[in-house]
Amino acid sequence: MALQAQAELGTLYGAPIELEAEMADMVRSYFPSMEMMRFVSSGTEATMHALRLARGFTGRKKIVKIEGAFHGAHDALLVKAGSGATTHCAPNSLGVPEEVAANTLLAPFNDLHALENLLRAHRDQVAALITEPVIGNAGTILPEEGYLQGLRELCDLHGILLILDEVITGFRLAMGGAQELYGVRADITTLGKILGGGMPIGAFGASKEIMSLVSPLGKVYQAGTFSGNPMSLVAGRETIRTLRREGHEGLNSAGEVMRKGLDRACVQMDLPYRAQGIGSMFQLFLSEWVVRDYGSAMRCDNKLFMRLFQALLERGIYLPASQWETNFLSTAHGDADARRTIEAFASALQEVSGR
Ligand code: PMP
Repeated sequence: MALQAQAELGTLYGAPIELEAEMADMVRSYFPSMEMMRFVSSGTEATMHALRLARGFTGRKKIVKIEGAFHGAHDALLVKAGSGATTHCAPNSLGVPEEVAANTLLAPFNDLHALENLLRAHRDQVAALITEPVIGNAGTILPEEGYLQGLRELCDLHGILLILDEVITGFRLAMGGAQELYGVRADITTLGKILGGGMPIGAFGASKEIMSLVSPLGKVYQAGTFSGNPMSLVAGRETIRTLRREGHEGLNSAGEVMRKGLDRACVQMDLPYRAQGIGSMFQLFLSEWVVRDYGSAMRCDNKLFMRLFQALLERGIYLPASQWETNFLSTAHGDADARRTIEAFASALQEVSGR
């Protein structure tokens, strides 16, 4: 309805619109670290501009990316990238000039010690560290206790901007994303997905001091024909209003039901696998270990996972087709769906594991 009404008013103006300000107020109320923000057309654009802004602000060139995280398909971040890049064996994409990749330093998730050594070795050269606060693109990998706070401290110590890519986690883990849930503050936040309620969107935002560097106030350039698109903003506004009304409890408890149900099925079959996740995100890792970084995710049995995927498909359950993706629940999923999915998992696991 809201989209139909907006379509009659216009789908593109090519000029800033009031809706952007209204949406920015709404987003800021949940993400106080985003004092000012820009709306763009995708998560990819958001992280791309966030990096340029961090480089402009600090006058430094290098960035640190966490292995296995995925931030969109642009040169600086297609280095040890998760999601489809990992599934299709191209985590380091061809076509990325080595001079560009050389400015992207890599650190394992959940390892502050390794990061500390890396930052010491590149003192005063790193503009930003970018990560997903909960990795959703290499399966679902949770930050260990104190890890995100440790990132914050190390970034402060080295004068590095912390970019939290909340394209997945924003409005999903809580209205204020992982920053609200884990009590950590980003210097630059990127958003997407839920923010557009199914329409193309992205956003990046930060303190006034940092955002004042974006043109025309400052000299970091960003623009786009479809930036701040009214259709996306309307769809996003309605989605956020719905989430605000309904809250996250139902979603989160459905996630808990799924994770517990999968664990129970594995225990009953004496299989070592466990579901990992938080809130409405989960993945069943086919491993005997807790997956805490890209390395431990890559050692999981993806061949077996693909057989599980097929067996589930035959039972009417369509998962993302890789061990290195996350399953997401939506407000449309109910108890009956969870029960049916767990039952299908149990029977599919029995088939592929020969139990
Ligand atoms: N960041 C994260 C964490 C993502 O998961 C994705 C997409 N899966 C992106 C950025 C890129 O967003 P988009 O596909 O909208 O460009």
